[in-house]
Amino acid sequence: MTRVVIVGCGVVGAAIAYELSLCPEFEVVVVDRQPPASGSSGAALGVAMGVISHKVQGRNWQLREQSLLRYPALIAELEAITGQQIQHNTQGILSLCFVAEELPRWRSLQAIRQQQGHTLDIWPPEQVAHHCPHLNLTNTVAGIYSPQDLQVNPTQLTQALVAAATLRGVRFHLGKPVVAFKIATDSAAPYCRAVLTSSQSFEADWVVLAAGLGTTALTENLGQATVLGPVLGQGLKLHLAQNLGNPDFQPVINGNDIHLVPLGAGDYWVGATVEFPTVSTPADGFALQPEAALLEAVWQGALAYCPALAQGTIIDRWFGLRPRPQAQAAPVIKPLEGYRNIWLATGHYRNGVLLAPATALTIRDHLLNG
Ligand SMILES: Cc1cc2nc3c(=O)[nH]c(=O)nc-3n(C[C@H](O)[C@H](O)[C@H](O)COP(=O)(O)OP(=O)(O)OC[C@H]3O[C@@H](n4cnc5c(N)ncnc54)[C@H](O)[C@@H]3O)c2cc1C
Repeated sequence: MTRVVIVGCGVVGAAIAYELSLCPEFEVVVVDRQPPASGSSGAALGVAMGVISHKVQGRNWQLREQSLLRYPALIAELEAITGQQIQHNTQGILSLCFVAEELPRWRSLQAIRQQQGHTLDIWPPEQVAHHCPHLNLTNTVAGIYSPQDLQVNPTQLTQALVAAATLRGVRFHLGKPVVAFKIATDSAAPYCRAVLTSSQSFEADWVVLAAGLGTTALTENLGQATVLGPVLGQGLKLHLAQNLGNPDFQPVINGNDIHLVPLGAGDYWVGATVEFPTVSTPADGFALQPEAALLEAVWQGALAYCPALAQGTIIDRWFGLRPRPQAQAAPVIKPLEGYRNIWLATGHYRNGVLLAPATALTIRDHLLNG
């Protein structure tokens, strides 16, 4: 058996654990200092913008496409194995376009997606009004509708991944941080023999660092700092007496990068802000505090395209920190330089929920190929 230790039990670490649990050659342990989905994953809206994103080639598109292809079967598998329901929305994403000059770019994306075998519709405002009568379309020049893109509740997904992986033999050790690594230097390339918490040692043939923002400290400890910075995001939850618009058509709506996420039974998420640290933020970034004015701006932006939201009651507000790589592109899925058995699966920034299934398959394939 090949022993794999995964550090981090957000959506990325949990997805890797589950995919590896499907391969009989792996014996998998996951270590996290907190319960599953306590980091960035627990704050996410779970909007998976694949076909509707402007990435059309290279690694970033391939990962998106791989995730979109994996997601339907993954959710069905997890619900069947665990008996848990995972809130998800397969009615697509409708993005409102307010600037006529952007339409040629959308038409060009539509043509590329058609060649790739995907669907992207461009609706005139009358068609948007027909499908979504609850929207104010005063400034809308078109609606870009992507039926294949989806949304999934990130916390429920992570918990189901953990439950399914547990049933398939993965062991989860939660509640204590990884504080050190036992490194063997008896060969040309050093390797990690074990991952250590204050009270336990986990022997490893492979180590996967899926620790989100915690990856910086872990890689500093290994002398190969992979620096990630926090980008704060706030969201809110709203309750209305009933679902807005057409009860049979409740896609995720996006206008000016503000998502309106239907959850059923009159509940909606609205978000999220994108708040970069300022020069006065302490170096570790974790003292970042949400700015009320920025959440208010997001709320006003949502009200502008969906005035009926004003009839609802805000029942929750929250924030989280997105792990953004510094000086390299997101996400970071590669071996840790200088070690022959440590992989990084981190730095997913704004797309960790979207990219978790593809990240897991990428790591699985690399570990299977030694
Ligand atoms: C408001 C908001 C909205 C978002 N919306 C979306 C969205 O719509 N779609 C999308 O795809 N993405 C979205 N994201 C981004 C997404 O949340 C992240 O990209 C994703 O959650 C990253 O997952 P992760 O598993 O890598 O990190 P995390 O969820 O942060 O998990 C890392 C885990 O590592 C653990 N850890 C760290 N250090 C140690 C250590 N030393 N020892 C043990 N454990 C350790 C932590 O406790 C944590 O549980 C959003 C983020 C925010 C904040």
